[in-house]
Amino acid sequence: MRTIAVLNQKGGVGKTTTVANVAAALALKGLRVLVIDLDPQAHLTIHLGSDGGPDTPGIYDVLMGEMVIASAIKPVRENLHLLGASINLVGAESELVNEVGRETLLRKALDTVRDRYDYLLIDCPPSLGLLSLNALAGVEEVMIPVQPHFLALQGFSRLLQTITLIQTRINPPLRVAAILMCMFDSRTSLSSEVRDDIDNFLVNARNTDAPWANAAIIPVHIRRNIKLAEAPSYGKTIFEYEPTCNGAADYQAVADWLCTGVATPTEHVPPPQACADAQTETAEVSEGE
Ligand code: ATP
Ligand code: MG
Repeated sequence: MRTIAVLNQKGGVGKTTTVANVAAALALKGLRVLVIDLDPQAHLTIHLGSDGGPDTPGIYDVLMGEMVIASAIKPVRENLHLLGASINLVGAESELVNEVGRETLLRKALDTVRDRYDYLLIDCPPSLGLLSLNALAGVEEVMIPVQPHFLALQGFSRLLQTITLIQTRINPPLRVAAILMCMFDSRTSLSSEVRDDIDNFLVNARNTDAPWANAAIIPVHIRRNIKLAEAPSYGKTIFEYEPTCNGAADYQAVADWLCTGVATPTEHVPPPQACADAQTETAEVSEGE
C-alpha cells in the first residue's frame, strides 16, 4: 500500500479538496483506495457525502481503542473506502495526552488493513498537533499543498522541522514526496514567484539527507476553479459533479502523476466547451477575493 499524508498546517490551502478528488481519480482507475479524515472539521467526510453525525463510527473510535479499524471503515464509492471524522475528534488530542505511544496509534491500527488497499490518503487538520503527528508516523510520503499567495511559505520551515523530527525519531522511511500548487493562477506573477521560491529551496536540498531532498513540485497545478468549491456542498467529487471542467482535468493529471511519475501539464490546454462558463465565473471569483 502506498501511503500519503496531505499536510500543511496553513488553513484553506486545498488539502481536503486534493484528498477527495485525487482519491476519487485513483478509485476510478480501479485502484483500491482508503481515505482517512483526521480533521475534526470533518470536511472530507462531508465532501464524500458521508456525514452521519457525532455517533457515526470513525477515526476517533479507532484512536481511542474503542473499535478495530476494519469495523470503522465504510465503503463510500466503488474502490473508495473512508475512515471518517466527526466533531468528537476535537477532544482526541487532549484525551490521549497521557497515552503511551500516542503518536503511533494510527500506524498500529493501519497494520491490520495494509494489504487491502493500493493507496492510503490522509487528510490532515490545519495544525501540527497529535493528529497530524499520527498521520506522519503512519505514512511513507507527505504531499504538501501550497496556495501561492502572500506569506504562502510562512510556517513552511516549522512544517519541515516537524517532518524531520518524526522521520528521525519514529518513522525513518518518511519523506516529502511532492508539493502541489493549488488554486494556481497563472495570470499573476505571485503564483510563479512562490513556485520558483519552492523550486530553489528544493534544488538546494538535493544530495542532502533532508526528508525533502527528493521532493518534486508536481508538474500539474490545480487551477482556481469554482466547480471544485461547489462540489462538496453536493457531497460529490469533481468527477461526479462536473467531469469536464478544469478542476477534474487537473486532479486527474495529479492522479496520473502519482501512478506513473508522468503527467501532461493541463495549464495550457484550452478548457472543454462545457466548462467555458465555469472559467468566466472563476475569473470573477479570483478578482473578488
Ligand atoms: P482546512 O485547512 O480548513 O482543512 P484545506 O486546506 O483542507 O482547509 P480546502 O477545504 O480543500 O482546504 O479548500 C479551501 C476552500 O477552497 C474550500 O472552500 C474549497 O472548496 C476551495 N477550493 C479548493 N481548491 C480550489 C480550487 N482549485 N479552486 C477554487 N476553490 C478551491
Ligand atoms: Mg481540510
